Amino acid sequence: MSRGRTVLVAGAGIGGLAASIALANTGFRVLVFERDETPDTSGAGIQLSPNATRALKALGALGELEKIAVEPSELVVANAINGAMLAAMPLGGTMREKFAAPYLVCLRAGLHDALAKIAGNHSEIELRYGSTITDFTGDNQGVTAQAECDGQAEAIGGAVLIGADGIRSQIRARIHPGASARHGGMSAWRATISAGSLSAEMREQVRVWLGPGAHLVHYPVGDGSQINLVAVTTDRQTTQSWGEEASPGDVAKHFTGWNDTPRGAISSATQFRRWSIYEAPLLPSWSKGCVTLLGDAAHGMFPFIAQGAASALEDAVTLARELASTEDAATALRAYERQRIPRTQQMQSTARNVGRIYHMPRPFSFGRDLVMKQIGAAGLLRQNEWIYRG
Ligand SMILES: Cc1cc2nc3c(=O)[nH]c(=O)nc-3n(C[C@H](O)[C@H](O)[C@H](O)COP(=O)(O)OP(=O)(O)OC[C@H]3O[C@@H](n4cnc5c(N)ncnc54)[C@H](O)[C@@H]3O)c2cc1C
Repeated sequence: MSRGRTVLVAGAGIGGLAASIALANTGFRVLVFERDETPDTSGAGIQLSPNATRALKALGALGELEKIAVEPSELVVANAINGAMLAAMPLGGTMREKFAAPYLVCLRAGLHDALAKIAGNHSEIELRYGSTITDFTGDNQGVTAQAECDGQAEAIGGAVLIGADGIRSQIRARIHPGASARHGGMSAWRATISAGSLSAEMREQVRVWLGPGAHLVHYPVGDGSQINLVAVTTDRQTTQSWGEEASPGDVAKHFTGWNDTPRGAISSATQFRRWSIYEAPLLPSWSKGCVTLLGDAAHGMFPFIAQGAASALEDAVTLARELASTEDAATALRAYERQRIPRTQQMQSTARNVGRIYHMPRPFSFGRDLVMKQIGAAGLLRQNEWIYRG
């Protein structure tokens, strides 16, 4: 295979793996470099809205995913202090009918494994774990990346380099020096609990509880016997490591004054992990010559609309389509970013605004609750339609 058909990918997260599969399916040879020695299997959950599952279908990965995912019945928003139900949006058949794709939830490690398995079995994809992209040079004709593995440096040529290297992307820093991710003043606390800790109705739902300066989301994962909890709270302190362990006591103090039901779910967890929440800067462009960005490296966003991985999957499909459509890689990368930047920036700003609404303090939250009650299912579907249609 010539250098002209070889794509280098930095990062084997959800974005990097999805891009590799999409590119290999359109005839490219793909070399994927992953800094970690082994795949990241940290045990949090992930929601996959119809735009995400549509992209997974385009990659040929939806069948694998459906084996390990749950299709929840509805998404219900409730007030975490008084327990009042504010709004409910039907999922299940409604999503399939309206958007021709399902709304699924699963363990993040399950999605990652499904993609890694497809990539690992693909004859045109080579996965190199324990290998870090440290630098690159290039122009509009191609790129040479420096990869470091076990202290050995190697120069590797390709037609394109894709920086799918996450929120702290080094490739973004080379394209836009100084454009670093911003700490959002929040932490996410994640745990898995037994489904028996919740009522039968809640075990089938995505449930979002809104409180001042904090919210909690829970939904079923695995075979439905487990529930994934994600609580996001105001928190100025940043974590030393990604997915740092936290005790239930550290977490419970953020939820004093909450209703017994969400507090009961939180107190049934025996171990939490904590992630500091970051947001990528709004970038005017993602590409330089034959190098571009994808996923959190390009548009890492707050988790309030559950679209970070979904948008990385969309990026992968668009990027492969554009690169397959012309021999001129630099032009293809411009076409890719022209399509993706407006949508992902709208997602970044929507996520920020939804965060303000979710974490609203009293008395403003009384107004929020009244509006949410009036919006109803049809209103929620309308609000999210631009996201789910893709
Ligand atoms: C609390 C929370 C809840 C979320 N919930 C959802 C949800 O429900 N739905 C949803 O769609 N999204 C959700 N997200 C967002 C989602 O998890 C991320 O957007 C997504 O995982 C980003 O994938 P990525 O591949 O771009 O980056 P990453 O997963 O960060 O992968 C980057 C990879 O690159 C590797 N790497 C870094 N530097 C280098 C280098 N120089 N060379 C080689 N390898 C390198 C890293 O080791 C890593 O494996 C959530 C996020 C949070 C924090």
